[in-house]
Amino acid sequence: MGENSRELIIIGGGPAGYTAALYAARANLEPLVIEGFQWGGQLMITSDVENYPGYPEGVLGPEMMKDFRRQAERFGAEFISDDVTRVDFSERPFRVYVGEEEYRADAVVVATGANARQLGIDSERTLQGRGVSYCAVCDAAFFREKEIVVVGGGDSAMEEATFLTKFADRVTIVHRRDEFRASPIMLDRARANDKIEWVTNAVVEKVLGDNVVTGVRIRDLSTDELTDLPADGLFVAIGHDPSTELFVGQLDMDEQGYVLTHDGTATNVEGVFAAGDVVDHIYRQAITAAGMGTMAALDAERWLTARQGHPHAALAAPRD
Ligand code: NAP
Repeated sequence: MGENSRELIIIGGGPAGYTAALYAARANLEPLVIEGFQWGGQLMITSDVENYPGYPEGVLGPEMMKDFRRQAERFGAEFISDDVTRVDFSERPFRVYVGEEEYRADAVVVATGANARQLGIDSERTLQGRGVSYCAVCDAAFFREKEIVVVGGGDSAMEEATFLTKFADRVTIVHRRDEFRASPIMLDRARANDKIEWVTNAVVEKVLGDNVVTGVRIRDLSTDELTDLPADGLFVAIGHDPSTELFVGQLDMDEQGYVLTHDGTATNVEGVFAAGDVVDHIYRQAITAAGMGTMAALDAERWLTARQGHPHAALAAPRD
């Protein structure tokens, strides 16, 4: 096989991609991981991770991703720290492009993840991991007996706010309208919780604090009035976007853009598998993504083995 031709290419460098790489490397598939320029995924903007089994003292998100990567590398996975710019899954071998460079593979694992939507203000970025969070399940325990602001009016915001009340003394939901997108049952549950307060028709203008969050400045959309709310944490719960633009028109997706899979991690294109947050809008945890990465590597390996045993395999997928 030529330098740019592989049995397996993995697109994405988060928990799903690196775990798929670990399993594939240990199955002697010599996977090429095109991990993205900003490899590591969502854990790179997290500080302490305390819910990943095997780290009893917790671990910093970026450290954990380095460990994942190093472990896959130890067994022979190779990495390209650049972004895939185009794919062509219309025939095998599949083509994956990084700029002008073309890579070919008999099988592909798509593990490009998803991004939590951000408010898009500078102070939010500066205080990420220092009180600004995008995952209540991950970070709620750091806010015992604290005051928290949750932004959003959908099911995620209701669920996160309700969950946070197990730890925090007070949770204020700030929503930009006075109608909610959340389902009535989730909204009612949050409304019945006396630790939750509501500020509607308002947006967060600035996150306050130098090194850690000390409050948020909110703007009332009807009066333009600014108010500073003291808070120890800001949870942004305004939805997620799967990173799937590359695959539009090639992989089947649901209406929100998540890749659809069947029979484990198979996609509509035979030989292309998908794992992690790019298919999962429910659990979204590092551990579930890693588990799916394992499934995708095993599925790809079995599929490749079955094809190689087929008398016409060489015809179906000519190699360089
Ligand atoms: P969502 O339904 O898209 O809601 C996003 C919310 O954030 C909306 O209220 C939106 O306001 C607000 N928002 C968006 N951009 C904003 C911005 N820049 N500034 C301020 N507010 C902004 O997202 P989601 O809540 O994550 O839910 C996604 C899907 O998962 C939904 O289908 C939901 O039902 C499902 N889900 C289900 C459960 C459950 O059943 N347990 C839990 C979580 C999520 P507007 O309303 O004004 O647009």
